[in-house]
This record gives sequence, C-alpha cells and structure tokens, in this order.
Amino acid sequence: MTETEVPEDHPRYASLVTRHRIEAGVEQGITSKQGLIAQGRGEAFDYLLGERTLPSADAAARAAAATLLLADRPVISVNGNVAALAPAETVDLADAVDADLEVNLFNHTDERVRRIADHLRDHGANEVKGLAGDGEIPGLDHARGVVDADGIEAADVVVVPLEDGDRAAALDAMGKTEIVIDLNPGSRSPRTADVPIIDNLLRAVPNVTAHAKDLADARPAELERTVDEFDADAALDAAEAAIREGSFADGDGA
Ligand code: ATP
Repeated sequence: MTETEVPEDHPRYASLVTRHRIEAGVEQGITSKQGLIAQGRGEAFDYLLGERTLPSADAAARAAAATLLLADRPVISVNGNVAALAPAETVDLADAVDADLEVNLFNHTDERVRRIADHLRDHGANEVKGLAGDGEIPGLDHARGVVDADGIEAADVVVVPLEDGDRAAALDAMGKTEIVIDLNPGSRSPRTADVPIIDNLLRAVPNVTAHAKDLADARPAELERTVDEFDADAALDAAEAAIREGSFADGDGA
C-alpha cells in the first residue's frame, strides 16, 4: 500500500501515512534506519497523547512563533525524519518567520545532506545550508558537532525538531534559544528547550506557521509578552499529566 492508497477513513490514517513517509524517506536515502526507530518511539507517545495537539502544546507553538519573529538570525535544523515527514511544511515555516534552513544530521554523510537539501528545494526551498560544515558546536565529537558557520553557529534562535539530548544540551551551552518539537515530554531535548512543543511534528510545524501569520503584525512588546507568559515547565507537566491520566476507554489512546 502506498501513501495515496491509505483510505482516509482508516482509524489510524495519520499514523499509517507517517509510516509510509518515513519508509519512503529511507528508500530515497533521506532518512537513516535509526530514523525508523525514532519514529516508532514518537508514534507510541503520540498514541498516549491521544494524537491531538494539547492546549499547552498550542501555547508552546504560539510562544515559538513569537520567539522566531523576534529573532535576529533564526535557523530551522532539518534532519532525515523532518525532511521525510514534513518538507513543504518546514519550508513554509521558514518563509513565514524568515528563517534559514540547515540540514543537520546525527548520522552525517555529505551525500545524505545533499539529498535532503535537494528534497527541500523540490518542496520550495531556495537556499539550504548544511554543506559548508565550516562551523562547530563545541563539546561534541566532530561528526556530530559540525554545522555551518553562518547558519546554526551564528544563529540566536534554533528550531530543533526531533533533536537528540546531547546536541540540545550543547546548543544550550552555546547560548542559543532552542525551540524543540518532540512527542516525549521526558526526553532530554524538550527538557533543555526554552520552548518545548510536545506534539507531533506533522501538527506542530504548520501550527507554528499559523501562529506566526497571526502574529505577523504584532508589536515587539506583544511578541515579548507572548514569550514571557509561556511556562516551559508547566507545558512539560501538562503533557506528562495527559499521558498519565489518559484512558483507553474512549479508544483514542488518551
Ligand atoms: P533524548 O536524547 O533527547 O533523551 P531520545 O533518546 O528519547 O532523546 P531519540 O531516539 O534520539 O530520542 O529521538 C527520537 C525522539 O523523537 C523521541 O523522543 C520521539 O518521541 C521523537 N519523535 C519521533 N517522531 C516524532 C514526530 N513525528 N514528532 C515529534 N517527535 C517525534
């Protein structure tokens, strides 16, 4: 069954489409096999969250949009899962907040960076960073710390969807403001983030874009208030509570 053959009324439609995209990403050399494992973990948490955007995640998406609109040099970091799951949505977000796109891989190969950059261009991106590799994230071994000097290294705000905990911590140590999208509220990366969005990438990215469009004419003071009012610990606690207090009785997993 291909993505287009998944019946839209199937109760697990979104989850099946997601699996197809990740599988296709591996076949195209965009997503690593490790990415399949990350997907499995994410899917389990999405199930426990009820496959919906919690109000706390929506508040996080709005704070993320305000943070990006206030940023001087925002960069969206793109890995193999992000590229496979939401390429057009990620390009739309970059356009809405005037951010750079940078391919940044845990299992780095130049070939895969090039394929992902091409894939993003096929979905409307103009410039895609990540191939220069002339900068670094201090504190990580070379293969994992390599970034572009005029991209992530110089950024003030970085969106790191599905980042691993070590790199999230190393970016935090560099003084970056981090926006993390991750379905697991217990993962180290959202716990390091200034703005953790505990939601599926497929829902969260378009939601941040929608908030950014809504806030496009807001004055800096209003944007700053939106950022200040957001409480990262409360958002993590709300997601954890939704998982712990959910029930399978209504069949939606939460
Ligand atoms: P950490 O090092 O931060 O503790 P981890 O070891 O829990 O991370 P990894 O296996 O490195 O996590 O990365 C997978 C992460 O990505 C998981 O936390 C998973 O919940 C998340 N994830 C996978 N797919 C999605 C998705 N579609 N949307 C949001 N998050 C996702």
